[in-house]
Amino acid sequence: MKEVTQKMREIAKELLEKNEVEYVVGWEKGTFWYQSPPCFVRRAEEVERLVWDEFCINNLAKYLLDFKHLEGKIALFVKGCDSRGIIRLLQDNQIRRDRVVLVGIPCKGMKDVTEAAKLEEEKPEKLPLAAKCQECRYPNPLVYDYLIGEEVVATAGQEDRFSDVAELEAMSPDERYEYWVGHYDRCIRCFACRNVCPACNCRECCFDLAEPRWLGKRVVRSENQFFAITRAMHVAGRCTECGECERVCPMNIPIMKLNKKIIKDINELFGPYDAGVDLEDKPPLGKYNPDDPDQFM
Ligand code: SF4
Ligand code: SF4
Ligand code: SF4
Repeated sequence: MKEVTQKMREIAKELLEKNEVEYVVGWEKGTFWYQSPPCFVRRAEEVERLVWDEFCINNLAKYLLDFKHLEGKIALFVKGCDSRGIIRLLQDNQIRRDRVVLVGIPCKGMKDVTEAAKLEEEKPEKLPLAAKCQECRYPNPLVYDYLIGEEVVATAGQEDRFSDVAELEAMSPDERYEYWVGHYDRCIRCFACRNVCPACNCRECCFDLAEPRWLGKRVVRSENQFFAITRAMHVAGRCTECGECERVCPMNIPIMKLNKKIIKDINELFGPYDAGVDLEDKPPLGKYNPDDPDQFM
């Protein structure tokens, strides 16, 4: 990890010194040993802040939208999941490839921060992988200009990828309704799940509109359900499975189960598709094929 950190700093320093980029976005050590939040480096003298360790879990792709109107370029470090978010943003024409410098880092998986907070000593090796990393099938960056470190072999398989969805599907409609009500009644509509999501990148989000007002202000069951279903459908075929929505949810709502149900349905209806993997391949709901299923017609 130290070598990767060193290499990150060298590349960042060179890019900033040569004025090739205005910012470098990476990770730095946070307040606790088990935190490595995003950091924004603007000057070559600051590159020592950058680190690579078991806690660089934040997907940095979405930050590019904050720099959309920057005149110069921006450099970003990308793991496999970040790079899928980048491809998502490129496909949505939200960013320009020639305005970003991507430094890829193959990723062996990040550690579970919640478990880390329970430890009395600094022992990252005792920690399990974070939930989102246990199922990662794309640990290597899929798009990059520089690559630091050796590619890693993905260990998560396809076989039981949808096992938790199968459990949901085995429930009766009433049981399923109770299951989701039980979770989404806790939603406080903080919008963290939306804000972190690289697939949620509309210039104006329907949930923020006052006129027409699609979503009421009151945090009640009906509005929470509308929010959950609308967001899930909005990312249908576009969700890159980065798991960030569930990771940041302060109410521990199993959002990925909903996303994965939709991914499974799309795969069954339109054939296998992984969002944010192939820049040239449009999402299934973004293209028309005369053979598309049309039972609803
Ligand atoms: S989802 Fe994959 S690429 Fe992303 S942090 Fe986890 S293991 Fe790394
Ligand atoms: S992050 Fe969780 S609590 Fe916040 S809006 Fe999303 S589902 Fe609701
Ligand atoms: S819906 Fe969740 S898992 Fe899917 S792209 Fe957005 S943040 Fe990532």
